[in-house]
Amino acid sequence: MTEAETALIAEAGRRLGPKSVITNPKEIEPWLTDWRGRMHGAAPAMLAPASTEEVVEIVRLAAEHRVPLVPQGGNTGMVAGSTPPPDGSAVLLSMRRMNKIRSLSADNRLAVAEAGVVLATLHDAAHEAGMRFPLTIGSRGSCTIGGLTSTNAGGTQVLKFGMMRSLIAGVEAVLPDGSVHSGLSGLKKDNRGYSLDQLLIGAEGTLGVITAVALRLVPAIATRAVAWTGVASPDKALELLRFLEARTSAVEGFELVPQDSLDLVLKHIPGTRPPLSGKHKWHALVEATTADPETEIAAELERLLAAALQQGIIEDAVIAASEAQAEAFWKLRDTISEAEREEGQTLAHDVSVAVADMPRFIAEASRAVEAAFPGVIASGFGHLGDGNIHFHVRAASHAAPDWYEREGAEITRFVDDVVTQMGGSISAEHGIGQLKLGEFERLAPPGRVHALRAIKQALDPLGIMNPGKLVP
Ligand SMILES: Cc1cc2nc3c(=O)[nH]c(=O)nc-3n(C[C@H](O)[C@H](O)[C@H](O)COP(=O)(O)OP(=O)(O)OC[C@H]3O[C@@H](n4cnc5c(N)ncnc54)[C@H](O)[C@@H]3O)c2cc1C
Repeated sequence: MTEAETALIAEAGRRLGPKSVITNPKEIEPWLTDWRGRMHGAAPAMLAPASTEEVVEIVRLAAEHRVPLVPQGGNTGMVAGSTPPPDGSAVLLSMRRMNKIRSLSADNRLAVAEAGVVLATLHDAAHEAGMRFPLTIGSRGSCTIGGLTSTNAGGTQVLKFGMMRSLIAGVEAVLPDGSVHSGLSGLKKDNRGYSLDQLLIGAEGTLGVITAVALRLVPAIATRAVAWTGVASPDKALELLRFLEARTSAVEGFELVPQDSLDLVLKHIPGTRPPLSGKHKWHALVEATTADPETEIAAELERLLAAALQQGIIEDAVIAASEAQAEAFWKLRDTISEAEREEGQTLAHDVSVAVADMPRFIAEASRAVEAAFPGVIASGFGHLGDGNIHFHVRAASHAAPDWYEREGAEITRFVDDVVTQMGGSISAEHGIGQLKLGEFERLAPPGRVHALRAIKQALDPLGIMNPGKLVP
């Protein structure tokens, strides 16, 4: 531990009390590795403030002693953004004790939640008030509002409600100089120049510490209908989505699943069964919802799917007959990554291209990767309607155990080049963190990198906020 770290930890202990300063290595240990288990860090202490005022104290001390802070929420991020550096040169800043929902108003359609509130907790609180926070992801039981905001998270309802950015009315944050930006008023109109709120969303903890967020709510769902459809190709799946969107505004989830991924789920995930009797090269999971209890949403979806069948857009379809069956359909989609892990080594790429280009991307990228790296199997699944798929490359069955370490980087470069040539993004919803920093620097237009560095330098000249992440 350096002298500066020792001084910071001692001073933080004096000012904030023992609850806020954790130095027991056993308590820190579980938070030093990223969710995927790829990056391992070290930290002499974990600071755990319980209020915005305590965060101000900590940020001022960090600036005074020049000790960097690594903000952390649920540690479920996919790019190791909240993993500290391995040399122990930074202190972890756990936001999990800041877990109050400060207010929730159905009339204002707003909730103000502290950074450490877990997403599922917010869902429950909104539900009790007859409302809904319409962003959901697989990690909802652990990820926090601060992490979701800092990564501008997406998920399965982006099609209708947008990413985190569209659901945020304002942000409260402690900036690197210790000042507090208070953007929680929820004003619809506020044109006082640059939006600090928008800068902090997706900043991955590099521009300040988010302490609370004002979040937009929508009325709770009265009923939902979930359908599983068989389609001949991603083109046909996209045609189905546009067909449905032209006739109803009820569709809020639309997920593409290849037969190959479904086969893996059926093979490895206990209790799963195929929703349709025949085999189809591709599948689309459709979720339609309504807040109006009078609307017969299942009947409406059934009518539209029957028309799509008649017009040759889909090959077959079934609508879940119960909530349990609807959950079973979603399970088939949500457990693809788990099933792939059971099957063997997999390289995951969270990429986006223009929605209309996605079918071509899936076809061309799969063909190119499989030709360039014989034996591997490429597949794309996920949020077709957002132009975002998880493009995964599985190792050949005879691959060596160190395939990932030996070939992973080269395959990822190959995929990222195809994405970039098509004008897409190498990170659709997971962010850059540490894991994508090299590829981001290699492929980002110089103007974007220049602006990022200039903003970082202007707001955090001492480099105390999450160094080594996002900004090349
Ligand atoms: C099973 C599973 C499914 C997932 N599905 C999706 C998905 O569909 N879509 C999607 O977008 N992501 C998904 N994720 C990724 C992840 O859950 C999100 O990135 C989430 O937003 C991270 O929240 P967290 O609280 O765990 O943040 P952490 O992982 O702790 O941190 C993430 C980043 O935010 C920063 N940060 C955290 N809190 C603060 C704060 N208060 N102030 C400033 N910076 C902060 C950290 O420094 C880090 O850079 C999934 C993850 C898992 C494990």
